Amino acid sequence: MERKKLVIIGSGPAAYTAAIYAARANLHPLVFEGFYSGPGGQLMTTTEVENYPGFPDGVTGPALMEMMRKQAEKFGTTILTEDVIEVTLGSRPFIVKGGTTTVSTEALIIATGATAKRLDVPGTRDGELWQKGVTACAVCDGAAPLFRDKDLYVFGGGDTAVEEAIFLTKYGKKVYIVHRREELRASKVMAERVLKHPKIEMIWNHVLVKVEGDKVVSRVVLKDVNSNAETTHDAGGVFFAIGHTPNTAFLKGQVELHPNGYIKVKEGTSYTNIEGVFAAGDVQDHVYRQAVTAAGSGCMAALDAERWLSEKGHA
Ligand SMILES: Cc1cc2nc3c(=O)[nH]c(=O)nc-3n(C[C@H](O)[C@H](O)[C@H](O)COP(=O)(O)OP(=O)(O)OC[C@H]3O[C@@H](n4cnc5c(N)ncnc54)[C@H](O)[C@@H]3O)c2cc1C
Repeated sequence: MERKKLVIIGSGPAAYTAAIYAARANLHPLVFEGFYSGPGGQLMTTTEVENYPGFPDGVTGPALMEMMRKQAEKFGTTILTEDVIEVTLGSRPFIVKGGTTTVSTEALIIATGATAKRLDVPGTRDGELWQKGVTACAVCDGAAPLFRDKDLYVFGGGDTAVEEAIFLTKYGKKVYIVHRREELRASKVMAERVLKHPKIEMIWNHVLVKVEGDKVVSRVVLKDVNSNAETTHDAGGVFFAIGHTPNTAFLKGQVELHPNGYIKVKEGTSYTNIEGVFAAGDVQDHVYRQAVTAAGSGCMAALDAERWLSEKGHA
């Protein structure tokens, strides 16, 4: 079994940034970029990225990820297009088992990201109106011209839904929060803010049935959960704010997690509770969840790993 100094699991901005830094530090990192999990990460599911610094005219998500991947390879990163199925972190060196390759490693960076939850209803799927007015990230996409002065529909009832709705009031004509219950799950302070907001209206006890439109979103069909009555509304945008699932199942409880499933790191660092195991990107960040913050934390993880390896005499 090949023995590595550093293995990185993931393929979003965090993993590739960590790989760039680690490769430039001569650590010869090995990246498991995933296969079924969707190599390239969440940005592969979006079109224009307008808030990543360095691209004044915007860049598509897939193009940005391809450039990051190339940059990691240029400095000597080895990339395997395999999912990691299992890790053994209870003894050293750690064992990382991929779809076909198993390696041992002194240090490990986990950058497996998170998956934005989407409602699976007609009109919202890939090849339909997904990314043509249907999205799962208001902060990322809300400023797009497509949504200006339109009626925007946010689906969810927690803090994320409330924050996204408030954010969207800067762009939309009116923002509707559609919630399946009669009360928000969001914190009291946040809930009060939306209930008082002149541009936000609550649609209680309703669920999304389908999204309609020709090239882009133009209508939503909602159903009253009490009466089952369906109504059609003009709409310029559909925003899912129903949470994210951090991709941590393969860890099988070997790294300490927050109650919401995100990896716990020592504040201001990428250190997990296991010495030599570091975490970066959305898998440990349920607050900011942006490409640039993921990339920044990937850099932190590589520097933390390099210092740790050097202290232990491995680098
Ligand atoms: C629709 C949409 C639009 C967005 N637009 C923007 C935007 O415009 N600007 C912005 O800054 N942010 C945007 N974001 C957020 C941004 O994509 C994320 O914050 C960022 O991609 C997180 O990066 P990451 O490196 O943590 O991981 P991710 O991008 O989540 O990638 C992690 C990847 O790791 C791989 N992986 C997972 N499990 C395994 C495993 N077991 N083995 C091997 N590999 C594995 C998978 O391929 C997974 O996709 C958007 C998100 C979405 C959903």
